[in-house]
Amino acid sequence: MIVTAMQGADSAQIQADLARLGLWAKKLEGQGSTQFVVAAHSSTVALETISALAGVSEVRASTSPHPLVDAQPKVIDFGPAQLGPGVAPVVFAGPCSVESEDHILRVAADVAASGATFLRGGAFKPRTSPYEFQGHGVQALKWLRKAASENGLGLVTECMASETRDDVAEFADVIQIGSRNMHNYSLLQAVAKTGRPIFLKRGMAATVQEWLAAGEYCLLHGAASVAFCERGVRSFDPSTRNLVDLGAVALLAHVHQVPVVVDPSHGTGRRDLVNALAKAAIAVGAHGVMVECHYDPGEALSDGPQALLPEQLRTLVADVQAQGEIS
Ligand code: PEP
Ligand code: MN
Repeated sequence: MIVTAMQGADSAQIQADLARLGLWAKKLEGQGSTQFVVAAHSSTVALETISALAGVSEVRASTSPHPLVDAQPKVIDFGPAQLGPGVAPVVFAGPCSVESEDHILRVAADVAASGATFLRGGAFKPRTSPYEFQGHGVQALKWLRKAASENGLGLVTECMASETRDDVAEFADVIQIGSRNMHNYSLLQAVAKTGRPIFLKRGMAATVQEWLAAGEYCLLHGAASVAFCERGVRSFDPSTRNLVDLGAVALLAHVHQVPVVVDPSHGTGRRDLVNALAKAAIAVGAHGVMVECHYDPGEALSDGPQALLPEQLRTLVADVQAQGEIS
């Protein structure tokens, strides 16, 4: 249940009145309004009783386990962009990992020339092997910020640990939670507390309900907004790196009506399939795509086989925009 306070109402008094009725409420300070999310294990109280409390303007009953995700605007503010139905698809593009200052400056220029809106790139890399390149850390965040700002791009980058959250929040417009961390609830809370929008990748074996619940953590703990990114789930078939679950994308876009993005780079692991899956993603209702690119994929420090060349990125952005117009 969500209880909305009237403008200027005494929110401490409302919270005390709710507690008196046995309703355990968490206060949320939103844009221009104060709301209380009432925990599901609270007492059962008639909606009229709550509506009659001093200072309460609206009471919305919800049996959904993710009421804040449901209550997000259909089109969310997402850093410098808007994401959702009826606005042009948003493209997030960049290298898998930031390799040097020159590297990210050059890629950012390619990304800007393609017409994409956001620069992506890992400063902290979750690698399966501890012997693989782990990212340049805080130094890479500074390079990313410079590259994004000089090229008029928004910046999304992953936060892997609470200890580096403040550094990531200082430089990024949007904070990415990677697939491996979707279930890391203490990290979700820590990142949400920065108030930044969150780009929430689906855990590689997460159900849609678990994914939505992770989004609920983000909003409950202060994230400005949350977008859900399908990046492929584990499957029985190694022919592609992962299995891009476009059914789940359609479910999120059309049934849950939440902002959803697809990452066909990690989804397929092959640059020759990225464009086809990006167009398919927009056709089934995705509001954007995230793709990896590199001017010299053979030399990339990570994920070279799935990186688009600059001209392929330009084609992809044009194709995605054209698909957005007919979808
Ligand atoms: C990434 O986008 O850099 C990444 C590591 O992706 P994922 O978390 O989906 O594996
Ligand atoms: Mn990658």
